[in-house]
Amino acid sequence: MSIADNLSRLHEEIAAACRKAGRSDSEVALMAVSKVHPVESILEAYAAGQRLFGENRVQEFQEKSARLGSLTDVAFHLIGPLQSNKTNKAAELFDAVDAVDSLKIAQRLDTAAVALGKRLPVLIEVKLSHEESKHGVAPAELTALLEAMQELKAVEAVGLMTVPPWSEDAEMARPYFRELRRLRDEAAVRFPRVTQLSMGMSNDFGVAIEEGSTCVRVGTSIFGKRVYPAGV
Ligand SMILES: *Cc1c(COP(=O)(O)O)cnc(C)c1O
Repeated sequence: MSIADNLSRLHEEIAAACRKAGRSDSEVALMAVSKVHPVESILEAYAAGQRLFGENRVQEFQEKSARLGSLTDVAFHLIGPLQSNKTNKAAELFDAVDAVDSLKIAQRLDTAAVALGKRLPVLIEVKLSHEESKHGVAPAELTALLEAMQELKAVEAVGLMTVPPWSEDAEMARPYFRELRRLRDEAAVRFPRVTQLSMGMSNDFGVAIEEGSTCVRVGTSIFGKRVYPAGV
């Protein structure tokens, strides 16, 4: 199966999940997660009409972006954890940062974005499981973070994202998706710009769409299995 075939199959699957949930498929964006895959794969997806991409490391994308300069009408989002020494680069390279998990990172991105004269929409990553390895703010800290972020000039919180514990069974993710949606609905009362819900990956995007996802982040089902280089 080519990347173009995979994308068209995914669009059909997303449309089917939307029909099942009584939603319009125009409400759900498909993000192609190209991390670890080569620039050629991004170009192939672009040629097939894909315009929204997710990368999870600043350094990796910096190298790729040098070869992507000619693409127009395309958006790259940072979807992985961001260290504070990479915020300037991240603000410069990405169109949005989808995994902000502290005020400090949001402030540093804001300073960088102001200097660049650029508006930077962000999502707040919420940690809903107790796994040590997971990033994100605790649900109880969300309101205070959104409140503090209202002072920012160029960075604006436009939604929430989460990564549930990995499971073969998509149903295991449903309670996490449902909880993120509840938090979004609650936050939107005070912060009406917080609308987006980035949730759902290759193995569970159908369930995520049923629970209200507005952006599914799909890597493996588009680009195939990631083969990590030795030493990474
Ligand atoms: C890698 C990654 C994805 C894509 O995962 P697949 O299972 O390959 O679809 C989605 N979201 C985040 C945050 C990722 O790091």
